[in-house]
Amino acid sequence: MMARAESVAVQALRNVMQRVSQASERANRPASQVRLVAVSKTKPVELVQEVYDAGHRHFGENYVQELIDKAPQLPQDIKWHFIGHLQSNKAKALITSVPNLYMVEGVDSQKVANHLNRAVSGLGRPPLSVLVQVNTSREESKSGVNPSECVDLAKHLKEECPNLRFSGLMTIGMLGYSSTAEFFKTLVNCREKVCKELEIPVEECELSMGMSGDFELAIEMGSTNVRVGSTIFGARSYPGRQ
Ligand SMILES: *Cc1c(COP(=O)(O)O)cnc(C)c1O
Repeated sequence: MMARAESVAVQALRNVMQRVSQASERANRPASQVRLVAVSKTKPVELVQEVYDAGHRHFGENYVQELIDKAPQLPQDIKWHFIGHLQSNKAKALITSVPNLYMVEGVDSQKVANHLNRAVSGLGRPPLSVLVQVNTSREESKSGVNPSECVDLAKHLKEECPNLRFSGLMTIGMLGYSSTAEFFKTLVNCREKVCKELEIPVEECELSMGMSGDFELAIEMGSTNVRVGSTIFGARSYPGRQ
């Protein structure tokens, strides 16, 4: 049988992987320190499957219902990341419907943390990794705690939520904005404070920052987890669903 030509998405994936390792090299960091999450929101399961078949395993979604619909149609060894704001009343559905949920990137209140913690208990699954979302650019439209509040929420997760594992911090930069570096630096500073206050080693506190437009800059500034959507899967076309 003739080998099938690589799809556009798979070529784009390989290109992004190469850019990830080049940016890591520039920053004198092993590329293995940076996880690439392929953000598949609004994209059909067939396209996700193609990227999966090329060997990729970490995928991200940011609409609960969409993830609940897609996850059962795709291989169970996918490591799903829920990225962005999560409504507390959807935590239970998310946890019970997606057994291969790997990480929630976007806990922004004690309320969401408590709902998640309760939803995980009794399921017999290992603690769920969560990141605290920080609103580093202080835009009203973005969710996330203020930088000054990140220690308190991290502490709450560590001390009050035994079914969750506090694993680091996440932020959304400001695309096309010249001061994106400043926002990434703010997240780096938050990590410093959190690690000192909670007495955890820096290596155990991830930084999820960097998207299609700024993932190389983010890696140079210390990101351990980049979330890349449109550069892999193509532009999203659903109106109002960016
Ligand atoms: C959609 C989304 C991404 C990916 O955005 P691209 O610019 O398409 O790479 C990353 N993070 C979050 C939280 C998102 O909602």
